[in-house]
This record gives sequence, structure tokens and C-alpha cells, in this order.
Amino acid sequence: MQKDPEAFSSKIIAWYHLHGRKALPWQQNPTPYRVWVSEIMLQQTQVATVIPYFQRFVQRFPGLPDLAKAEQDEVLHYWSGLGYYSRARNLHKAAQQIMQSAAGQFPETVDALMALPGIGRSTAGAILSLALNQPQPILDGNVKRVLARCHAVTGWTGTAAVQKQLWFLTEQLTPRQETKAYNQAMMDIGATICLRSKPHCDRCPVMTLCQAHAQGDPTAYPQPKPRKKLPTRSVVMLLAYDQQGQVLLEVRPDNGIWGGLWGFPEFDDPETAAATAATWFGDHQRAAVWWDERRHTFSHFHLLITPLVVKLTQPVASVMDGNSRVWYNTDKPDRRGLAAPVSQLIEALRELLRGEGNEPYGGMCKT
Ligand code: SF4
Repeated sequence: MQKDPEAFSSKIIAWYHLHGRKALPWQQNPTPYRVWVSEIMLQQTQVATVIPYFQRFVQRFPGLPDLAKAEQDEVLHYWSGLGYYSRARNLHKAAQQIMQSAAGQFPETVDALMALPGIGRSTAGAILSLALNQPQPILDGNVKRVLARCHAVTGWTGTAAVQKQLWFLTEQLTPRQETKAYNQAMMDIGATICLRSKPHCDRCPVMTLCQAHAQGDPTAYPQPKPRKKLPTRSVVMLLAYDQQGQVLLEVRPDNGIWGGLWGFPEFDDPETAAATAATWFGDHQRAAVWWDERRHTFSHFHLLITPLVVKLTQPVASVMDGNSRVWYNTDKPDRRGLAAPVSQLIEALRELLRGEGNEPYGGMCKT
């Protein structure tokens, strides 16, 4: 525990006034809605990556009503490439809930915010402090690191015991005055000074109060997550396309990876993929080739993707299945969410189409 919480917070606030970030897009006109969108985007994602996404998102959905009445596909389209798509689905659902149950009135208490999908205690604290200057503590990844180092908190921050300890510390240290400046500064210090592997202690406003620095090895805190070897899963993606650049996509279930986004039909093994393509496309199938396997890593597993690329004489209407499949025009893409590996494969298909006539197919033909 910090002996003098006020000495700690006043150093942090003084630093904010000199060096803190004040020109981020969500700091201009910081309504609860805009701060909420930014906080959700910033989870697991760096500020520089978030800025263009945030700007496009709030330009298209400037307020709660705009977001609430949008189609999920369009919301996911504006999220495409940011990853962790459940964040976008929850944002959309929460906007609809606020419009329906609170008549569009943005909640102004931690409990009411935490009742919404996708909002945890730290996000609720950030919205209320940064948008409304309420004296609410926060505890995002950056703040956890600063506090764990300053107070030499042992253990991995993902455990309940360490979380409890860190919440206690942030509650004690967060000042009742100038909370907005304090919280913003703690996030900034975590992101720009108290870096994971190379902290710049010489530039840190709380160096003289930091126990990890005094011990001589700040990176010893916080302790890393115990490592587990990530499992690997394999999938075959069927890339069916025609000469006009139309590809077959289907919507993924809301649950699971890339939930609600559009992707290629998937199969567990090459034989099933090839047999299904033959059944679906029959005489319209002109050629089929296998591309090299690609790897996509999620936080909890590696996905090995083997693309089966099937060229068709024309889009085949019989494969349509209600609204769950489309022939997607890659020349005039409409607004729907695509996972990053799917966008990359579409780009590779477009490359193939551009080169067709010269060297139409690469890879080994298996079918
Ligand atoms: S003194 Fe160093 S380790 Fe301690 S909070 Fe500051 S940057 Fe982090």
C-alpha cells in the first residue's frame, strides 16, 4: 500500500498536465458514447491502430441511435480488421438495449453500465471518469502494470487474488478531484513509459515511489501468465469464384471465432471439401487447386487454413441457402464484416484473377 496516496496521485496529475495525451480523437467532444466506443476498441489494441477505426466508426455512427438501428453486418464491416469481433457485437447489442430500456439515456453509474454486454468494471470506470469526470477507478492492462510495479505485487494479474489486490490499490490511489486527468495519465504512463519490456523509469513521475525500480528489476513485475502450448486446429476453406470476381461467402454463427462475420465455407478435411465442391458445382467447376497452408494465431489456438480454390464458369444459384450465403462481388464489395484472413484470401484471389491468362494456377492440383 502507498503510504501517501495523495503524493502519488499529485505526481501523476502534474505529469498529465505537462505530458499527458490531450489530442486523441475521443478526447475531443468526450461524450460517454464516444469514450465508450474508444474504450471498447482500445481493449487488446494499441492507440495508433484504433485511431482510424474510431474515426470511421463515429463518422458512420455518430451517436447511440445511429449505432442501435444499424444492421449488425454493417457494424462488423466497420470493425473488420480490428479483431475480437465479440466486442463489436456487444457494442451493437448494448446500444440497442440503451435505446429500448433507457430511452436512449446513457447510463451514468458503474452498476448500470456493467449490466450492459461487453462492459466490465474498468471500462465502466473509464467511461464515467473520462466523459463525466466521476471519481471512478480504472484497472486496464496498462494501469495494472504500473500499479504492480510501483507496489511490487507478485503473481500473474489474471488471478483473482492479484486482481483483488490491484483493485484495492487503484481504489485507494484514485483521487476524488481531477480523476479524469489522473486516469488518463495512468493509461498514458502505462502505454508510453512503463513499457512491458523496457520501462523508461528515468522519465517516470513516480520513480521515487516505485518499489520495482528500487529493487533494480522493474520487468520482474507483473509476473507473466504461466505459458501453455497453444493447440492447433486445421480447416479447409472452399474459395469458389468465377471470372467476374464473384466468390461464395457464408455467414458464420454468432458464437465462436469470427462470429457474425462472413467467410468461405469450411470443412474439416480435404476429401469432404473436394466432394462437396463437386456436388455443389457439378459441370460448372472448371478447375480446382490447393493453395499452400496458412497459419492464423488466436489467443488460445493456432488455426491452419488450407484453401481449396475452385474456378467456376458462373455463380451457381443452387448453393444459396436463405440469406446465409452470397456471391460476393470482389470488384464492388458491399458492407459486410470479413475476418482478416478472409480479406487476405480474397485479395489473393483478385491477384489470381488479374494474372489469369498468363499463369492461371499455382500450387499442386489434388482433384
Ligand atoms: S519507475 Fe519504472 S517501473 Fe516504476 S512505474 Fe515508473 S516506469 Fe514503471
